[in-house]
Amino acid sequence: MSNKPSTLFDKVWDSHVVRQIEDGPDVFFIDRHFIHEVTSPVAFGGLESRGLKVLFPERTFATADHNTPTINQHLPVQDPLSAKQLKALEENSGRYGISHWGLGNPKNGIVHVVGPENGITLPGMTIVCGDSHTSTHGAFGAIAFGIGTSEVEMVLTSQCIMQPKPLKMRINVNGKLGKGVTPKDVILYIIAKISTSGATGYFVEYAGDVFENMSMEGRMTVCNMSIEMGARGGMIAPDDTTFNYIKGRELAPKGEEWEKQLAYWKTLKTDEGATFDVEYNYDAADIEPMITFGTNPGMGIGISQLIPKAADLTGGITTYEKSLKYMGFSEDEKMIGKKVDYVFIGSCTNGRIEDFRAFATIIKGRKKADHVTAWIVPGSHIVRQQIQEEGILDILTEAGFELREPGCSACLAMNDDKIPAGKYAVSTSNRNFEGRQGPGSRTLLASPLVAAAAAVTGYVTDPRELMESNELEAASV
Ligand code: SF4
Repeated sequence: MSNKPSTLFDKVWDSHVVRQIEDGPDVFFIDRHFIHEVTSPVAFGGLESRGLKVLFPERTFATADHNTPTINQHLPVQDPLSAKQLKALEENSGRYGISHWGLGNPKNGIVHVVGPENGITLPGMTIVCGDSHTSTHGAFGAIAFGIGTSEVEMVLTSQCIMQPKPLKMRINVNGKLGKGVTPKDVILYIIAKISTSGATGYFVEYAGDVFENMSMEGRMTVCNMSIEMGARGGMIAPDDTTFNYIKGRELAPKGEEWEKQLAYWKTLKTDEGATFDVEYNYDAADIEPMITFGTNPGMGIGISQLIPKAADLTGGITTYEKSLKYMGFSEDEKMIGKKVDYVFIGSCTNGRIEDFRAFATIIKGRKKADHVTAWIVPGSHIVRQQIQEEGILDILTEAGFELREPGCSACLAMNDDKIPAGKYAVSTSNRNFEGRQGPGSRTLLASPLVAAAAAVTGYVTDPRELMESNELEAASV
């Protein structure tokens, strides 16, 4: 064994290489495979037509999320394609002996929410799913990435995948985050700095005080959006925050096995002196609540700033102008004060309990703006239950909001929750591409706090102003 300092990424990657192909990709073992209704039917069809079996059904987990309705889930699903895909997931899971958390199952929810909350996602693992935002699981010190349909079939039948080893990038953010600055703002800031292609070909490790002090929910938000800067994935070294989050979860190791795993997990950190191909350093104090103004997640600014001028940018000016035209915005304008039609809080980026707690801090004692349609969508039934148990549902109801049932909802236009053409949505999801939330929809990506401020004022609003007035009121009671 080499004594050379090693990165967290190398430790996990190298321990999963089954075979190295000269000048080719590595044959890479996969510990956990998550599947959902959209990308799995074709893969199962491939298995069936070739007479193949699922090699390790106990390593595969199925949940229904992408095209599920977020109201009346007890009724038959109306959309024929969605109904067919949901049925196929159920039948294929049953046929091959795979755990299936379909609609109505208390463990159902978005794949990247239910994996961690049930203790399936663990440090040092390799995890794949036919969804780009599988990078979420990297928050636990796992190597996790999205795969295509043919790769889903490959993993089902061999539990391996062919992967070239990515380059390594480390992003350090140190210092103290300011008021109203959340993990979502941190990652939107990083993407705005690095650009949507700045990490292409790399696997990112996030390091520094800001991530060390972040909750697991926050770390998941950050790792979730690694893909939006082109990275293969992102990861954070596991620590006591990670271990405390996992301990006691239903499928997490218990007893002696817990102690054994814990000893291994504690070795999963980048050694002093290990090197990266690229490294970036940022100061937490430079980050303010963020909002996007364009049609990719890198087109984000601090909420108090002006939309940049095309002349100040390097390259891509035609695309920039096209993007602003689609959004109905002009350069050098303020984002604050722009009218908002829809607010969406949810998705695998911000559909966890901490996100709803943050949302509630702003809306408490206020009312939803009359012209705003709000979709409040928990990432899972477990999150929904927490919202009820913690009294957040009462705050939502008093403010005129309705809590929906879990699913991907308005993250992507694959179910009934679509933003109409031309309408503006402040959304806590991860992508603002043209039409992502519905044909012609206009998405402003932001944190749960910015979403809450928009929901109660009806306009893009700096959440710090509302936080201040809530604090003043609390102080005067
Ligand atoms: S919420 Fe969006 S990004 Fe996340 S799993 Fe669903 S569709 Fe994919």
